[in-house]
Amino acid sequence: MKKMDNVRRRNALFHFGFGTDVMKNIKICEKCSHPESSMKTFCTKCGSRLPKNNLYDFYKAQHKNCQKCGTVLSDSMDYCPRCGTKVNNNVPLMIEK
Ligand SMILES: [Zn+2]
Ligand SMILES: [Zn+2]
Repeated sequence: MKKMDNVRRRNALFHFGFGTDVMKNIKICEKCSHPESSMKTFCTKCGSRLPKNNLYDFYKAQHKNCQKCGTVLSDSMDYCPRCGTKVNNNVPLMIEK
């Protein structure tokens, strides 16, 4: 049971901006969705050319990320959990304290 919790927690962390080093090392084949090492150029499963960007690049493009340290953040975060920088998501913030 405890092992399951750890896995679940790790997955949650992965989705909330941690585990970026892992993502940087993974590319996803656009054709068959097979995960590959980012060092590879071609998918070992179907032979298609892998995308230039790794999983982290895609993830980063889809989410807010810290301008200072590059940590990917969930959409609800206003501050970077790693360095505490206020998130600038290129939208002018109306609420100021
Ligand atoms: Zn493939
Ligand atoms: Zn940061």
